[in-house]
Amino acid sequence: MSKDSNSLRMEKIVSLCKRRGFVFQSSEIYGGLNGFWDYGPLGVELKRNLKNFWWRRVVREHDDIVGLDGSIIMNRAVWKASGHEETFSDPMVDCRSCQTRHRADQLPEKDGASYCPNCNSRDLTPPRAFNLMFKSFAGPVENDENLVYLRPETAQAIFVQFKNVLDTSRQKIPFGIAQIGKAFRNEINPRNFIFRSREFEQMEVEYFCKEQDGLTILEKWLEERLRFYEDIGIPRSKIHVHEIPDGERAFYSKKTYDLEYEFPFGVQELEGIAYRTDYDLTQHARASGKPLDYFEEETKQRFIPHVIEPSAGVDRTTLALLCEAFDEETVTDHSGKSEVRTLLRFHPRMAPIKCGIFPLLKNKPELVSKAKEIASSLRGQLAVFYDETGAIGRRYRRQDEVGTPFGVTIDFDTIGENGPSLQDTVTLRHRDSMKQERIAIAELKSFLLQAVD
Ligand code: ATP
Repeated sequence: MSKDSNSLRMEKIVSLCKRRGFVFQSSEIYGGLNGFWDYGPLGVELKRNLKNFWWRRVVREHDDIVGLDGSIIMNRAVWKASGHEETFSDPMVDCRSCQTRHRADQLPEKDGASYCPNCNSRDLTPPRAFNLMFKSFAGPVENDENLVYLRPETAQAIFVQFKNVLDTSRQKIPFGIAQIGKAFRNEINPRNFIFRSREFEQMEVEYFCKEQDGLTILEKWLEERLRFYEDIGIPRSKIHVHEIPDGERAFYSKKTYDLEYEFPFGVQELEGIAYRTDYDLTQHARASGKPLDYFEEETKQRFIPHVIEPSAGVDRTTLALLCEAFDEETVTDHSGKSEVRTLLRFHPRMAPIKCGIFPLLKNKPELVSKAKEIASSLRGQLAVFYDETGAIGRRYRRQDEVGTPFGVTIDFDTIGENGPSLQDTVTLRHRDSMKQERIAIAELKSFLLQAVD
């Protein structure tokens, strides 16, 4: 696809997100705030489906992984020990002509020289380190002693609670601690919609193991994470596995993979899977003076566990789901008229609404009451949307556009007006193929639950 068609595609996705209530600009009525976004009614369901499925895959389906929900603000000492206070920075340059600020490593270049992406000037300051952590104060006095940071990653809470979790969960090495939560980075140039924002969510696991198993476990996680993306509807062929070469990895990492997705704006990181050795626990044990080692009963050995960290972004994966699902196709109706059908081909388990419920006519009380009855019988376990307004074809299209995989129409056959043979059955329409079939109301719930599981 050309650059133009890719940026047009991205524009259409962003516009659909706003139009249909997936993502809004934060504080929009006040002009917004760069790098911050709000998830609307459908976006919140999509994100929740993603997080729930990650939790199920990572925590519930593993008896060696437990969860944690750490606080966003922690003792500043955590960030000193982890190295974030000193080194969690991006190189930044200022443009002397237009006074804008940019990431030095993302500047466009021409004839070997960088220039300002805003005004094309080459009059740039030398790069300076810009710390990405947001600062605040805990308590009423704004002094250095009360300085705190909003966490730039969820991982550190896991490391500093390693001992508490180990002592209370009866886990043995190897085992993991998982967490989903907000992280904040004062990115110099937030961009590409929800891809790079200043407030976002991460889904991370710290998997603790013996040193000799580290590299093997890293490969297992790579495989497991690729399978996860496949199971939410992002095919392997769209994920690029990039092994970070020596010299570009964090100094403590023995091996790191980035999983990258083919976004319309380029192939970009979705998740990092890093073998972080024993760096983090060693740093915190040293700085806190508290032992963070592990005693192995069988061998009577004490050691600091090594760590594998699969760290994924909720918002980036949500964006990948939207980009992967977005489609436009030309369809021709029975009268020969063609139109463009916009649809989101979400995997049913990710779709924000699982099933649309439509009485064929809204002025026929029997149809309406039957449809409402079906909707309420499904509602507790499935996100359904009841819609009685407009022609049935238009109602289908509205659901196609938000990725609802199934539509159920309650018609005269359902209420037995055409004889008993089709009574208590409904039309089930499939979003992708637009095929329709008849299904008994009694079987509907189990069919849907199985399809979205
Ligand atoms: P990048 O190089 O794109 O800035 P990173 O390598 O710094 O990302 P990590 O520190 O490895 O990112 O964070 C793990 C995951 O958290 C990333 O793979 C990404 O999915 C997510 N993430 C990181 N920064 C952001 C951000 N500013 N906005 C949205 N998601 C982010």
